[in-house]
Amino acid sequence: MNVLEVQNLKKEFNGTEIIKDISFEVKEGETLVILGPSGTGKSTILRCINNLEKVDGGNIIVNGSSMIKEYKNSKPIYNNKEILNKINLEIGMVFQDFNLFPHLTIKENIIKPLKYVLKKGKEESEEIAKKALEKMGLIDKIDSYPCELSGGQKQRAGIARSLAINPRIICMDEPTSSLDPELVGEVLKAIKQLASERKTMVIVTHEIKFAEEVADSAIFIADGKIVEEGKPEDIIRNPKEQRTKEFLKRYI
Ligand code: ADP
Repeated sequence: MNVLEVQNLKKEFNGTEIIKDISFEVKEGETLVILGPSGTGKSTILRCINNLEKVDGGNIIVNGSSMIKEYKNSKPIYNNKEILNKINLEIGMVFQDFNLFPHLTIKENIIKPLKYVLKKGKEESEEIAKKALEKMGLIDKIDSYPCELSGGQKQRAGIARSLAINPRIICMDEPTSSLDPELVGEVLKAIKQLASERKTMVIVTHEIKFAEEVADSAIFIADGKIVEEGKPEDIIRNPKEQRTKEFLKRYI
């Protein structure tokens, strides 16, 4: 079953088409990695999936619910709030720069959406937060503030926060790119653990070896289009297109 379908996605900024007709799907329990040079629209795709950006064309279907209801005069009309809220709850997002609230403890960061969005009680929220932090090896940091954590710990807390809402799919936007090199490994290990538990994920990353190890499928994007897609080991070890070869040369 497809948890996510991105169909003929188009997105412009100030009249320039950044995403040009991109389609892919992610099956339940699978991890898709999105590879490609900087500035080619990888983050924009995740932001459209998370409804942080509005699409200009195509559709996004999450767990069978469609973001776009119809097209009028070639303009997308989004579905009603109820459906969009439902879709939002199916998607967790892990950001490059963690996006933790600095004035809240790690526990408070995690329970905030549980209490205010999912309307869960205090005790249940705390229980969920504890479980998510245990999973990420951070239970001893439950009452710490983000500024007291290393970058790797902050990112693992970010992952714990997204896990806590129990989404059907987690999107990660370059989850290790703002970390010092010695901290990258612990975050990749945590993500690998989620993949081995068959959490459905879409990950934008420049960590090529990790992509090969963790993903079930990969797409390589350049200039807002899919240049190559398939099994990560095929794309990474045996790229067919010149753009892919040039990109991989820089990263391997
Ligand atoms: P990537 O993730 O592949 O590095 P992005 O999706 O961040 O690429 O950006 C793709 C292009 O879209 C870039 O040229 C970027 O400057 C532009 N862009 C992204 N977000 C916006 C925005 N909100 N307004 C204007 N341009 C944007």
